[in-house]
Amino acid sequence: MSNVETHPPELVCGSTAGAAAVEVLEPRDVPLGGPRAMTVRRTLPQRSRSLIGAWCFADHYGPDDVSVSGGMDVAPHPHTGLQTASWLFSGEIEHRDTLGVHALVRPGELNLMTAGHGIAHSEVSTPDTTVLHGVQLWIALPDADRDAPRDFQHYAPDAVALEGATARVFLGSLAGETSPVRTFTPLLGAELVLEPGARLVLEVDAAFEHGVLVDVGAVELDGTPLGRGALGCSGPGTTELRLANAGEAPARVVLLGGEPFGEDLVMWWNFVGRSHEEIALFRDQWQAGSDRFGQVEGYPGGRLPAPPLPMGRLRPRGNPPRP
Ligand code: MN
Repeated sequence: MSNVETHPPELVCGSTAGAAAVEVLEPRDVPLGGPRAMTVRRTLPQRSRSLIGAWCFADHYGPDDVSVSGGMDVAPHPHTGLQTASWLFSGEIEHRDTLGVHALVRPGELNLMTAGHGIAHSEVSTPDTTVLHGVQLWIALPDADRDAPRDFQHYAPDAVALEGATARVFLGSLAGETSPVRTFTPLLGAELVLEPGARLVLEVDAAFEHGVLVDVGAVELDGTPLGRGALGCSGPGTTELRLANAGEAPARVVLLGGEPFGEDLVMWWNFVGRSHEEIALFRDQWQAGSDRFGQVEGYPGGRLPAPPLPMGRLRPRGNPPRP
């Protein structure tokens, strides 16, 4: 989807050193603009943390009654320097992009779009959708690959039964399952549904930092309770994550992981770049209809104009030092 803030701040995002304790990032509500009233809950980026591995953006939305909210209708908009990962719990979204892909995003199926040098796409919930519920995640591309050609990958992972839980591994490896989807940096992405009272010990890569995004349930990460929509973060250096469902109803989380990214980014609106000047260029090119992004075919309407750039410019900097 598009970042729909009217005046999105320009953020300089650095990677973080390892932290021993669980860091809890609370979501902030971001209303989708325009005639539709859907609101998303954003946990990445934040001031205290910009990234988990290369995961640089996390929006969680729904369950949303589309007869009330109108659902999702995001007109063609651009991206650079990133991949978008769409993962639904319910509902259906029609995707069109300037690679020529026309695809349906369905629950339990990963759609991973590589923007690379530049792409544009539209996303519209289908007329059959009654409840829209899912996550939209962005992955920053490393400097060596951020001008990669447009790409689109689809993958429907098998549901894997664990003790007290079911896992769907859509990126990377977990619990003996490995996704075939190609990434530019080592990553993990999985949905986990935990039965009431479940206590999981997950073996993970000690080189990775991890995040647990709670969709629903009384979830604890390494003993730290996480509220609805919160993102619990765990630094590198551990080979085990302890996930528990302390409630009496099933819980559902999205587990993210990756090696600390190690590069500074400038994120603004739907662009990931490395400098203010570059972001301004991307914006100008989108406004001018440049071939960098191409034309989305089949969307019934105009495209999203870029918001105005913020006043001034930011100098590159990293995240604050972490304990
Ligand atoms: Mn988008």
